[in-house]
Amino acid sequence: MRRTKIICTLGPSSAEYGILLEVVRAGMDVARINFSHGDPAFYHHAVRLVRRVSQELKKPVAILADLQGIKIRIGEVEQGAVELEKGSSVVVLPGEGVTTAQKLYIRYEPLLEDLKVGDDILLDDGLIKLKVQEKFADRLHATVLEGGVLRSRKGVHFPRTNTSARTFTEKDQRDLEMAVHLGVDYVALSFVRDGEDIARVRSWARERGFRLPPLIAKIERKEALHAAEEIAQEADGLMVARGDLGVEAPIEMVPVYQKMLVKLAKERGKIAIIATQMLESMRESSSPTRAEVTDIANAVLDGADALMLSAETAIGKYPVLATQMMHTVVEATERHLASRIPSFYRPRGMLPEAIVFGALQTACNVNARALVVFTHSGFTALVLSSFRPGMPILALTPEEETARQLALVWGVLPEVLDVPEEAESITLLRRAEEILLGRKLARPGDPVVFVASSPFLGYRNLIRLHRLGEPFTEEGIPPGTPAPEPTG
Ligand code: PEP
Repeated sequence: MRRTKIICTLGPSSAEYGILLEVVRAGMDVARINFSHGDPAFYHHAVRLVRRVSQELKKPVAILADLQGIKIRIGEVEQGAVELEKGSSVVVLPGEGVTTAQKLYIRYEPLLEDLKVGDDILLDDGLIKLKVQEKFADRLHATVLEGGVLRSRKGVHFPRTNTSARTFTEKDQRDLEMAVHLGVDYVALSFVRDGEDIARVRSWARERGFRLPPLIAKIERKEALHAAEEIAQEADGLMVARGDLGVEAPIEMVPVYQKMLVKLAKERGKIAIIATQMLESMRESSSPTRAEVTDIANAVLDGADALMLSAETAIGKYPVLATQMMHTVVEATERHLASRIPSFYRPRGMLPEAIVFGALQTACNVNARALVVFTHSGFTALVLSSFRPGMPILALTPEEETARQLALVWGVLPEVLDVPEEAESITLLRRAEEILLGRKLARPGDPVVFVASSPFLGYRNLIRLHRLGEPFTEEGIPPGTPAPEPTG
């Protein structure tokens, strides 16, 4: 049973019924819709498709809407491509003009305020490098240090500059409104700078009466590395967005930041995602490199909740094989190196933590085969997962949205309870037992532990040790006990 989850980006290679069915069978837990590409028709199509496939396979699948954020780009290039020659001089201007070999237009309004003499300008993921030599009121003069062919709309980075513009652009606001209406389960925001960026999204949504799904902050700006703690505090999760991060920060620091950011998120019980180029060669090839396989294994050992495929499944030639490969590598790593998967979680003294910790201790003492968590919002399951227990976590919830969201959380097997929550406690416990047996998570006679930290099964909270198949003798839970008032 694989515990680290797999996120696949949807695109022309995978957003088709027959292929997506195979991608989900191969191991996709979360579908990422990248709002940097595509149009509203595609986003609607992708959401409908994921919901259909998820329903047909009876597997909760979460949808993550990834907002473009303030990605800095050039506009159109003369005749689609120009060669910037090493050693040549280029005038750099803010705006929408057409770029030539002599004049570079960057779509970034505060360009002249933010950049100074000596700053670097990286184009096309750092393949082309310029240095600012002179600054005037209306333009910059730069020299090409590393030349190359520049094509339209390529990305721009200023690795030595503290950029002032904030993310969550007007396009992001329109996209977020659409994503909320489409009922996505997570939202990721690109190019977050600090905690305030996340707070701004939340207050924007509050003012409009939108119910926001959990927010993932993509860490890819160097400013975000300095503010990582406050971002981890404000957001519901962090994504190590290695693509842009490896251009903004020295590339050799990417593994260091990856480990630091996963630990930071998991210490606080927040979600941690590692993204980009995990199986890059499988865009074109049906098998991965040894280095990619090792990267996946190391990401598992870093303690991430989920690993993400981008171009591999969006535009690559082998979306199903790439997903299968990620599944196989993760599973092998977990099977052979399970004891090396860290738990960084630092309890903060909340009631759910105490209940969960008690359940975990009990489960370890009796060598329980599985933990069953009853959860409404998913929070208790997230806390339980954060302790990285050795046994499977079956999360039962009356809420479909919670089941989908838990598809992203390490080690959690979510399932929607198909009996009314008001049913007698015995009925719910028996159903849990049937699900455990049906999913082959435990066999008759095996000890299992049930846990709930919010009102469930007629109790305010619950830890219950049970041997599968034995009757539920009910001294503690009189049938029909009414649920107490929520404690908040
Ligand atoms: C990244 O930069 O690694 C990333 C995940 O963002 P995007 O794919 O949107 O560039």
